[in-house]
Amino acid sequence: MPGKMKPPVLPNSSLDALSGIGEKRVAAFHAYGLHTVDDLFRFLPRAYLNRARITPLSDLEEGVFSSVVGRIQRIQPMGRQRLVVTLEDNTGRLSLVWFKGFHFLLPRFEEGKRLNAWGKITRFRNEFQLSHPDLKFLEVNEAPEKGVFPVYVKPETLSEAAIDSKIIAAAVRDALERTREILPEAVPAALRMRNGFPAIKEVYRKLHFPEDDSPAAMATFLRRLKYEEAFLLCLKMEKLSRAMGKTGLPMKLPGALSGSILKNAGFAPTIAQRRVLADIEAELAAGRPFKRLLQGDVGSGKTFVCAVFMAHIIENGYQAALMAPTEILARQHFIEMERLFAGTGVQTALFVSGQSKSERAKLDRDLAAGRIGLAVGTHALLSPDVVFGNLGAAVVDEQHRFGVLQRLALRRKGGEGAPALMVASATPIPRTLALTLYGDLALSVINELPPGRIPVKTHRVPENKRSDMVRFIRDKVASGGRAFFILPLVEASEKMQEVTSLAEMHERLQRDYFPGMAVEKIHGRMPVEEKEAALARFRSGESRLLAATTVVEVGIDIPQADVMVVENPERFGLAQLHQLRGRVGRGNRESFCFLLPGLSCSEGAYERLGKFAATNDGFIIAELDFEARGAGDLAGYRQSGSSAFKFLDLLHDMQLIETAKKDAVWFLENIGETTSEEQKYIEKVLNAFADDDDDVLQTA
Ligand code: ADP
Ligand code: MG
Repeated sequence: MPGKMKPPVLPNSSLDALSGIGEKRVAAFHAYGLHTVDDLFRFLPRAYLNRARITPLSDLEEGVFSSVVGRIQRIQPMGRQRLVVTLEDNTGRLSLVWFKGFHFLLPRFEEGKRLNAWGKITRFRNEFQLSHPDLKFLEVNEAPEKGVFPVYVKPETLSEAAIDSKIIAAAVRDALERTREILPEAVPAALRMRNGFPAIKEVYRKLHFPEDDSPAAMATFLRRLKYEEAFLLCLKMEKLSRAMGKTGLPMKLPGALSGSILKNAGFAPTIAQRRVLADIEAELAAGRPFKRLLQGDVGSGKTFVCAVFMAHIIENGYQAALMAPTEILARQHFIEMERLFAGTGVQTALFVSGQSKSERAKLDRDLAAGRIGLAVGTHALLSPDVVFGNLGAAVVDEQHRFGVLQRLALRRKGGEGAPALMVASATPIPRTLALTLYGDLALSVINELPPGRIPVKTHRVPENKRSDMVRFIRDKVASGGRAFFILPLVEASEKMQEVTSLAEMHERLQRDYFPGMAVEKIHGRMPVEEKEAALARFRSGESRLLAATTVVEVGIDIPQADVMVVENPERFGLAQLHQLRGRVGRGNRESFCFLLPGLSCSEGAYERLGKFAATNDGFIIAELDFEARGAGDLAGYRQSGSSAFKFLDLLHDMQLIETAKKDAVWFLENIGETTSEEQKYIEKVLNAFADDDDDVLQTA
């Protein structure tokens, strides 16, 4: 806007300060989680359209972002539903299609007018089209704009407010012009220099409006944003870990209590369990700060090791806490701990959400007074009301289901002391990653299954063999077995008609497959008491068939279960399938896993399922999963850290994290080398960073 100076804006200014963004659009941005100018800077294009090249209409390719120029040949509004505008050049034709929000556009189209349109080419009924393209109307001799243009995601909320890439780009450009050249940085100057990072504003400028959109050039700038997250994460971890002190709680190991646990267990520990326990005991006796990752494939007996570990802690007069990611698992652990600690005088208690106020108040009192020796629970244990009188150890089961910082939160309940931390997981975490995230974390691996286990046999079952499978399961159940049927959906969905739902399958099981037999049903949205009751009937054998969603995925332990049927297995990750398969073969019954691929199963997915069927090794499966889905999904890291990490990929960006870790340590030790202004800003960002992780905690 020539001649008119617009007032400056700050990174934390609200978005309506920017040109083209009014109340309605602000609301749409808010709904998408974008509030400030800085949020907008960090809302990166998902692609770049290099409009230096205009593609002739005969040369279009499906899926390619393209810019085209043509004359308007035909305008076909179809009521309020749809608008089709046909464009032609000397080589061919192309349909531009709108399904909504075209009313304000309609009057601008005129036959014969020249138009520059760009977007991703799609195919509909064998014809190419551009749906909801970005547009520029051209004068007779006007040339289309050239250059690299950002393309942003268009989620529903933004589209509804008619926010397209052009509007976002204009707002970003406006923001770049109106913010100061030097913006506050969450990475100290010294570390930016050391790592060769340009100023943050330059980073934003290049990521939104690159002159060179080659992947290599873009990666350099993206690195700066990834590094920032890695640096803040490491700083946070480092600060937490320093606050916990350098020595552990002193422990003696008379072993009377752990002896009772052994007796109550009713089995002899495996060699691997004994070895791991010996490591644990040596470390406890040494009085060093205790931090250990307990890794072992599904069914290897991690719970028992955790119980013995906690017995040592409790025998020394401390309390122990065991946290599980789901309520079903927490309740199962609670029952198992009551069994293992029976007759020892140790009081166990369960902490889950949804307990009555008075019940919880009593538990909280008993815990604070130290009367409860062992607290088992979900993340309800992290609630501020839950105060330990004398916490000596925090055990986090299935740790990949928790956020990175959440796992440390339980241990922080120890106040000034330095409670021991043990995290148990069936998902192999690369050692370097574990080390970086936890610092001096020790690793124990249970590399052996309890004796008598017969490896689960896995088969892909084609639809025409389904009735054979059902007959087979009838025999297994008649001889005392239990069968799980896992479905990806709770209710039938119009959008996914090819997917069988839990409701449908439950009916089919009762009516067609196992008439006259009780079939239980469990899904996440059921009240917990109902879930528990259904699971209890299944456990006791009162009913022997259970249809469920993946709520049974982690940890459920029913030794008689010998059949796992997974419908539409192509909709699950292999690591998840491995967890599901781990629900059977836990006793000494020969067990089977049947995979019934649906219509949505691609050839590649079918092949992967074949590889999965051929192995029972969790490590190999993690690798297969890694190949297929990328690191982000491997251990649920992206999921669990999603609100904390927008750019960083905890597995792929390992080297960057290692650098950031060293830098964070340096920063804490040389804090004098940064200005106090810089420190204050970093402190502020760091606090907000922790808040993000608390959000994860609420939804976990
Ligand atoms: P995970 O490592 O998957 O958490 P669990 O701790 O749930 O496995 O153990 C799986 C099953 O194996 C449980 O029923 C448990 O009681 C049993 N178990 C554990 N250790 C042994 C052992 N040494 N001998 C026989 N059974 C065992
Ligand atoms: Mg377990």
